[in-house]
Amino acid sequence: MFRIRRIFDDVIPVNRDALVQVREILKRRFSQASETEIDHIGDKLRNPFTLRFRPILFVAENMRHKVMGFAMVLHEPEIDFCYLDWIATANASLRGGLGSALYERVRSECSALGVGGLFFECLPDTDITCDQDSPKENIARLRFYERYGARPLVGTAYETPVKEGDTCMPFLVYDGLGRDKPLGRDYARRVVRAILERKYKDVCPQEYVELVVTSIRDNPVKLRPFCHVKPEKAQNTVNPSFTEKIALVINERHEILHIHERGYVESPVRVRSILTHLEKSGLFESMATQDFPDTHILAVHDADFIAYLARACEEVSPGKSLYPYVFPIRNKTRPPRETTVLPGYYCIDTFTPINRNAFPTARNGVNAALTAAHALVDGRRIAYALVRPPGHHAEKRAFGGFCYMNNTAIAAQYLRGHGRVAILDIDYHHGNGQQDIFYNRSDILTVSIHGHPSFAYPYFTGFEDETGEGEGAGFNLNFPLEEKITPKEYRITLAKALRRVAQFEPDFLVIALGLDTARNDPTGTWSLTPADFKANGRMIGETGLPILVVQEGGYKTRSLGINARNFFQGMAEVIFRVTGRKTLYDLRHKGLTLRYEPLPEDRIQIEQLVEATGFFRPDEVKIAGELVGERLEQGAASGYYFVIALKAGKVIGYGCYGPIPCTLKSYDIYWIAVSPDLQGQGLGKILLLEMERLIAEAGGGGIYVETSMQPGYATTRSFYERFGYSCKAVLDNFYGPGDGKGIYCK
Ligand SMILES: [Zn+2]
Repeated sequence: MFRIRRIFDDVIPVNRDALVQVREILKRRFSQASETEIDHIGDKLRNPFTLRFRPILFVAENMRHKVMGFAMVLHEPEIDFCYLDWIATANASLRGGLGSALYERVRSECSALGVGGLFFECLPDTDITCDQDSPKENIARLRFYERYGARPLVGTAYETPVKEGDTCMPFLVYDGLGRDKPLGRDYARRVVRAILERKYKDVCPQEYVELVVTSIRDNPVKLRPFCHVKPEKAQNTVNPSFTEKIALVINERHEILHIHERGYVESPVRVRSILTHLEKSGLFESMATQDFPDTHILAVHDADFIAYLARACEEVSPGKSLYPYVFPIRNKTRPPRETTVLPGYYCIDTFTPINRNAFPTARNGVNAALTAAHALVDGRRIAYALVRPPGHHAEKRAFGGFCYMNNTAIAAQYLRGHGRVAILDIDYHHGNGQQDIFYNRSDILTVSIHGHPSFAYPYFTGFEDETGEGEGAGFNLNFPLEEKITPKEYRITLAKALRRVAQFEPDFLVIALGLDTARNDPTGTWSLTPADFKANGRMIGETGLPILVVQEGGYKTRSLGINARNFFQGMAEVIFRVTGRKTLYDLRHKGLTLRYEPLPEDRIQIEQLVEATGFFRPDEVKIAGELVGERLEQGAASGYYFVIALKAGKVIGYGCYGPIPCTLKSYDIYWIAVSPDLQGQGLGKILLLEMERLIAEAGGGGIYVETSMQPGYATTRSFYERFGYSCKAVLDNFYGPGDGKGIYCK
């Protein structure tokens, strides 16, 4: 029995232990690896950009955390490839089940990253000079990879000895990850250059790099024919379950908590209603709830409060519910002795009872939330803890609002052991629990969008000026909204909230999902429709982050399922199909930054950029510069807005847009230009999506783009069409004879 998990850093003890074991395996299995290289694996994980690769480490462990094998992948997001740095098992050869599981896991990760291919080195099976590994072992390895369709590049000088006397030079193997796309020459050249210049920078002189890179002449690059496996036997499809299914964890024992009082809307049918719709979507893969120790709960809740909950629930007779009715607003240091009076000491309202089944059900809900959180650590993109009772009103030492223990906060705290965490609460009611628990902390960001406490539960928290305290100042953000809002106003707020999340640069996003923002919810006043839930899911998916969704409120049982399903469909559309790889979140991995206000020195750079694209006449280039000038002089009053992409201080792309005068909410996109050497890498998409987002945030409606209808502009037109723009009008001979103008709209 083993399981594979991803290790993000060496901060927590269990990861440190795993890394020690990884180093031991490396030393044993790769005698040629240098000591420093082995010792620096932890540094690499912590400071990925020193290498200019993003390292991804998977370990296969048994249940006692003994590492049985590992794989280290280097992701290059700019050139868009992965390099398999190491793959090894502790004892067995790679051919066994463990090796296959590790390699398949690597492939599905690379596939989800959307890279053009996976590359790695393999000692040759044809070279008799190889003495450190027996040729038999090399044959076995190449046969293993051939089973996935991966084969060495041939007809290049990659195997050329670096210096005289070097023998047994490795092959460079290419795995196309199940796509039958041939390996393009220019792409292969960029990949090989990056490998030699970065990974072997101390070994390979520049002349050698040039020699190898220019030796790649075939287009497409040829791969060696299958030698060890019949081509039809190769199984090159990528297992999508890790990367294209949402891990679903249900609190199986939730049905035992059923409070039969009138008006107690938090009932078992809620989960059933959601589940029926999720099953139809085909997007989910169920996982069994695992047990987690109380330490995770006590990391966010006071021990005496949890002990009280457990004891009080046990003491109530079956079927009976004990409601708080005395509240110690004075003299909190003298809690009453009587169990029947005590609930008010720990509760914030009068409608959440102590009940025999409340504690065990809530406790199991915590396990479900932690299981789902762990699925993200394991490498899932999205995990959903479908739990009840909800948890987001439970504070450090208080229950209430149908909540007993704060599932969302406990899961966030757990994920904190693996990276930075942001919580976004989108329940109709304020997430007072997380706010209370993390109010003094800057390492977990808490954001909540909810009905204003002047009319919505919990009435006493959720105001805009509650922004955190001490170290946590600025790390709690509340968006209290009006009693009646339009779905569009909601989206504008959501965009703002997500912007703060992106600024925080988390590694995980935890969503406290309340479906009580829906139309006709008995506890809410808003009217989001299934289509709105889909749009919101999409916006959240655009962050590109691993996302844990924890179920909170939502009581209109008839629409719960359809809304939940739409929410996840929207999210999955972005994360699984388009994937988050070209999103803002990834900008920092590429060393890119965005700027929204041009600086005086940008003007000349923007003119040069526009000119370099070769698409524009000199007078148009001049206009591009003039627009920057107007913005510099008049600010927003100029009506020109900018998104400028920079790398190492240099402008590498930009977009310019603005409201169309004399219209209510129509916007024009005036320019998008990307530096010619960076075209085709997704920067245009980033600029377009960012402009669309800003336009939506500003309350814009239709977006218009004008472009030439000449054949030379076909790629521009298809670019806009790909993002949902359609050509609404063509004005013949507009720019000149035979040069019409197309007006595109979205
Ligand atoms: Zn709620």
